[in-house]
Amino acid sequence: MVLYQRYVDFILSHGYEKTPHIGEADVVLVDTCASTEMQENASFDLMQAEQSRAKKDAKIIVCGCLPAINPEKFNRRWQGDFFTPSNQFMLARILGFDHEEEKFLTPYENPGRFMGAEDAKASTLHSHVPLVRLFARSLLELHRLNNWLPGNGLERLPWAQRLFIISQQCNAKNYTINISQGCIGECTFCVIPKAKGRTRSLPMGLIVEKIREKVQEGVRHLTLSSDDSGAYGIDIGTNLVELLKKIHEIPGEFHLYINCFDPRWWLRLGDGMKDMFALGKIRYLQCALQSGSPSVLRRMKRGYRIEDVLPHLRDTRSRFPNLVMASQFIAGFPGETGEDARASQTIIEEDLFDHIFVFDFSHRPGAEAAEIEGHLPQGLIKERGRQLRRAWFWSNARIQLGLRRKVKPSDNLMRTPLVPRRSQPQEIPLLSV
Ligand code: SF4
Repeated sequence: MVLYQRYVDFILSHGYEKTPHIGEADVVLVDTCASTEMQENASFDLMQAEQSRAKKDAKIIVCGCLPAINPEKFNRRWQGDFFTPSNQFMLARILGFDHEEEKFLTPYENPGRFMGAEDAKASTLHSHVPLVRLFARSLLELHRLNNWLPGNGLERLPWAQRLFIISQQCNAKNYTINISQGCIGECTFCVIPKAKGRTRSLPMGLIVEKIREKVQEGVRHLTLSSDDSGAYGIDIGTNLVELLKKIHEIPGEFHLYINCFDPRWWLRLGDGMKDMFALGKIRYLQCALQSGSPSVLRRMKRGYRIEDVLPHLRDTRSRFPNLVMASQFIAGFPGETGEDARASQTIIEEDLFDHIFVFDFSHRPGAEAAEIEGHLPQGLIKERGRQLRRAWFWSNARIQLGLRRKVKPSDNLMRTPLVPRRSQPQEIPLLSV
């Protein structure tokens, strides 16, 4: 979304105006995502829908990760203009502004040129936002954003995710800054390093100055976005905690939202992060556990053991109840047993997280997971996904009603069993198709 805003800004700066009616647009920019098969399919549907709604001589340009992640399928299905995150300069070329290609040097390549993201809208849900308000806000946005109406591919996404995406549009006063791009992880299901390369961090001084400027302009909610925010600074000799310390020195009333803090960074930055939470400015942390099973995490090559990460999460939950924590789980990873699935479910039922996304496992071209033995039948993957979503639904209901399960003091939690069982564990069906 942040990169997308950058492209929109570039186009607008060349005399174009935004129109809510796609049928009268001269240029249509279609943002895609292919990090899961479901999102890839939704992106193809969106491309098709936009093509059929645009006028005949409109220039339809596809951007985002899809062309980089699944080029074969993309080339089979799309003959029009496109570019990827690593050749963004093509946008200038496609629009006939070849001499401006250098504007698309990323800020990582040219820190002196920081364009885009200025008006990017992003907000994060809070545990105290009642569902009713969230629904009302989302419906309002549905009304306003004809892009999100049925027929554009978004309907393939689960409802909770749809609402989350839509609600991200709700607060125009927010500001998102992409602190780094790419990832040094080796997760076997993920193709982000393939599409975006290894971590490249924006210089700390540049981020701090940009945030200072935004706070002075009245921005109150700042999202630090990244493919792997915990890795921030690894290529320039610093780290996320050092960056947060500097940001906290900026005078003014504002709050911070941290995206994509991979769990392995708890092991290196955990205590430092908690010191930062204690300052009260950080409102949101997204930390994708992906699975509660040690053996699945090993096969995913996630780089952490669940028993090392959970104490940090529980300690954070009990010490900072107002910090909104979100997570993500993958259902049906190759070789996942019923016991493995129950381990994920048990963690969800602990009510550690305020928001959880569940993705059904899907193979991504070029991802190592294809070689892993034990691929599950589609029906079973979907059933496991449904089961985890059900667990999340009830966990969310408890949170919304203020009945969050009590997290015990961190000292004791260090000694609690790895996957505490409920007295009558809910069975995960093996196959029900
Ligand atoms: S840490 Fe995140 S972005 Fe990096 S490889 Fe793993 S899943 Fe992908």
